[in-house]
Amino acid sequence: MFENICSQFPVLSRYVNDKPLVYLDNAATTQKPLCVINAIDSYYKELNSNVHRGVHTLSQLATETYENARKKVQLFIGAKHAHEVIFTKGTTESINLVANSFGKSFFKQGDEIILTCMEHHSNIVPWQLVSEQYGTVLKIVPVNTNGELEVDVYEKLFSEQTKIVAISHASNLLGTINPIKQMIDIAHTHHVPVLIDGAQGIKSCILNVEKLDCDFYCFSGHKVYAPMGIGVLYGKEKWLEQLPPYQGGGEMIEQVSFQKTTFNKLPFKFEAGTPNVEGAVGLAAAIDFMLDCGLENIIEHENKLLQYGHKKLQEIEGLKIIGNAKEKTALISFLLKNQHPYDAGILLDLMGIAVRTGHHCAQPLIDFLGIPGTIRVSFAIYNRLDDIDKLTEVLHKVNTMLNKK
Ligand code: PMP
Repeated sequence: MFENICSQFPVLSRYVNDKPLVYLDNAATTQKPLCVINAIDSYYKELNSNVHRGVHTLSQLATETYENARKKVQLFIGAKHAHEVIFTKGTTESINLVANSFGKSFFKQGDEIILTCMEHHSNIVPWQLVSEQYGTVLKIVPVNTNGELEVDVYEKLFSEQTKIVAISHASNLLGTINPIKQMIDIAHTHHVPVLIDGAQGIKSCILNVEKLDCDFYCFSGHKVYAPMGIGVLYGKEKWLEQLPPYQGGGEMIEQVSFQKTTFNKLPFKFEAGTPNVEGAVGLAAAIDFMLDCGLENIIEHENKLLQYGHKKLQEIEGLKIIGNAKEKTALISFLLKNQHPYDAGILLDLMGIAVRTGHHCAQPLIDFLGIPGTIRVSFAIYNRLDDIDKLTEVLHKVNTMLNKK
């Protein structure tokens, strides 16, 4: 499947350190197909203009394009209304928006927020910042030795003070796909809303936020073939209507006077200032690209890479896979015996293989696991089994070289 797809990704044909690039850092960001690059190019060549306020033709065309992108996202994620889709810079901004606006409306001293041990810093720090402001307390769901959440402990964390649950759909370090539907249902029996950090999870499923019944879902375009600087906050209408604006500025207002300002309707209440129209155009093109490839096909292809990667990496002496959950997104974290991940990362780069090393912005999980970090490889539509063969071949060499030191 997808034999010729690499030709649609210009950057993949380049050399790095005189070796053909093998790009295995897709959980950090994916490469962009020509259709996305061309869509942005055409937008600037043909209809760039500021959106919403203009009566002139270009402004109306740009507005239509931007709002069509919103509708495309709505259908892609299965939201009931287009106005439940807020364009943001990415997952991080989406979570900060909810933490701040939700906090302002609902948090008081002693209230509790449930997070998990495997959260990315983007789904920890915003809650800590608002906790300093309102005196709220974080409660943490632990993980077991396979890297799966302890759902029975989660159930017991709820109390009268629990105000919101914020959990990742999939862990960017362990790869674990969390049982979010079950966790949402549990939270709802306590009348507690749930925010899902979908940065890694969105590509591992065919998302339907209505069926999932999550209250908020956040993701970044750049991890699903779209440009950087565009992302989405999905929120149920009933919540978005209740939350105050996150930022003030143009577009988010209805009427402004020095005495009082009233706010625009959804989704514009949460989109202060000139939006990232180019990003929305790119995201819409990326969605078309994924739909053309077939979401099931993409998931199947990435699962095949994941299974093959697990098998081949396990053959390497002294290699330990970190994260062995039953359900995983297409990434593998591992350690080589007696070696710092950073050293292996540098050597792999010299051979043209791009991987990520370090704490992956999940320091609490790294501390819990008692490891210095991991080497992480992550797959996308354009990766082939051959990339994994190259990786493992080099890892065998790296192992020998580093062990000789
Ligand atoms: N959550 C998770 C699970 C992630 O993997 C990432 C990106 N590494 C983020 C949040 C933050 O995404 P962004 O930097 O695109 O806002």
